[in-house]
Amino acid sequence: MALCGGIRADGGRCGAQATRDSEWCLGHDPDKADARRRRASKGGKRGGRGRPTTELARLRDRFEELADKVLAGEVERSDGAVAGQLLNGARACVRDGLAAREQEELIERLEVLEAGLDEQQQGRNGSGYAKF
Ligand SMILES: [Zn+2]
Repeated sequence: MALCGGIRADGGRCGAQATRDSEWCLGHDPDKADARRRRASKGGKRGGRGRPTTELARLRDRFEELADKVLAGEVERSDGAVAGQLLNGARACVRDGLAAREQEELIERLEVLEAGLDEQQQGRNGSGYAKF
């Protein structure tokens, strides 16, 4: 099987095992570049509003504002208690949303890894190497 002709970051030849029907390893294959770019840019899209840390900071501000108003007598204690509970619900949504997103990202990364392993396995069988 061919060795990858890609160029490493330090300028040398990659030399890793190429995937099946390819001159490149998984990391250098131009066909896989799109998927790599999509994954790499995902982190960037998280910036700003909607980001869990931003949402949590916003909720913290509202909790503090609410507490100030209750203490200053601007908001009834009972209203403040209900509002606090509802804000707490919003906080739970942010937290659960974050957990769900992390899980989705992990599943996606696992699928990419599994696809890579499958290709390596098929390449090995195809070229007559013994299966591990
Ligand atoms: Zn390579």
